[in-house]
Amino acid sequence: MKRKIDPATMHPRYQITEVIHSIYTRGMTTTSGGNVSITDDCGNVWITPSAIDKGSLTPDDIVCVKPDGSVIGKHKPSSELPFHKAIYKIRPDIKAVIHAHPSGLVSFSIVHQIPETAISGLMAAVCRRIAYAEYGLPGSEELSVKIASKFSEGAMSVIMENHGIVLGGANMVDAYQRFEALEFCARAIINAHIIGKPNFLSSIQLQQHNDGHTPEIPESEMPDDTTAIETLRHEMCNIVHRGCRQGLFFGAMGTVSLRLDDDDFLITPENAARWNLLPVDMVRVKDGCCARGLQPDSSAWLHREIFFKNPDTRVIINAQPPNLMAFAVTHRQLDVRTIPESWIFLRDVPSLPFGSQLYPASEIVDVLSDKIPALLVQNDSFIVTGKKLIQAFDRLEVAEFSAQSLIMAESIGKLIPIGNGQIEDLRRTFT
Ligand SMILES: [Zn+2]
Repeated sequence: MKRKIDPATMHPRYQITEVIHSIYTRGMTTTSGGNVSITDDCGNVWITPSAIDKGSLTPDDIVCVKPDGSVIGKHKPSSELPFHKAIYKIRPDIKAVIHAHPSGLVSFSIVHQIPETAISGLMAAVCRRIAYAEYGLPGSEELSVKIASKFSEGAMSVIMENHGIVLGGANMVDAYQRFEALEFCARAIINAHIIGKPNFLSSIQLQQHNDGHTPEIPESEMPDDTTAIETLRHEMCNIVHRGCRQGLFFGAMGTVSLRLDDDDFLITPENAARWNLLPVDMVRVKDGCCARGLQPDSSAWLHREIFFKNPDTRVIINAQPPNLMAFAVTHRQLDVRTIPESWIFLRDVPSLPFGSQLYPASEIVDVLSDKIPALLVQNDSFIVTGKKLIQAFDRLEVAEFSAQSLIMAESIGKLIPIGNGQIEDLRRTFT
């Protein structure tokens, strides 16, 4: 079973339009701000046009700048073309560049700081090296020299002083995953500062994360999908895309698994962009083996253990949304005794130490149960279970909304939780 379309092989016009549409609809650029480009094997640079509405861009609007400087297209290329070209010249490994002014990263840019991405091992691995470039006039040669010099030193992203972010990738999918991860990392750090002090992973912990490899999952031939399994693949895909739209999943982050039978489940793939996953991308893991030629998420072993321990659990989701991550990074308790619905859906949410997500630790498996459907892993993620896809997804949404309310409340007063007696009433009524 193979993917029918590889997004990295689509024509640059379509890749750029898709990405700029995602950036705009997810509130990470304005109508006029930002520009995106791809360079092809002939040295052409395909780039967004200057002064055209980002909310209604079509593939036809994308401009091609030839190596000799001639321009093909019905518009002028972006005014920031000089730094796109300078990056491609100095870094032949970079084939796609994104520049935008998303609010989280602009916050870092205007206080002249670089976000520390070691809020989790995965975030640090995706974001890679970030540098800082001093201010330069937009569109100027001076600005492109300042930016290109940082890329020449090995940076994959550059915070532009009092301006925004520019980053590169081996292709547009790689660049966009890095862009989303960096912006969500920035938002998580800002949120963490509102409620406490962020804890960043040490180099030893990052090494533990990188070395904490999962057990080898052998490949095997899988039985053909029944119509029911095909339907479940579509449902999983829909929920993953919905999670992206809701800001719960981004880049290659966010894992969903769905049990088919006792030791048989579907799980999202490792290191694949979530927003364009197809039903065929969901990896079947049956009797400890995975479908041939596909790579299941690296936490597949953990999901399998959770399914073993909890026969009624059918769905598991891990995610790193920016409000829940603030609690995971500050190690603050997520108190969901905020409104009745939050406590009813989530119950008390334990917080486990970093490392409990690494193979072969079993604390997560020991803690999750019918009575404890959700937990936080410090400097890693939020994990939630359910009997149905929509139930687990709703719990994730409720948790992220609750975390956001707690963060927003911080500036106006102290949380006054629902009292113990009222919680006992809820427990009696809704158990
Ligand atoms: Zn700009």
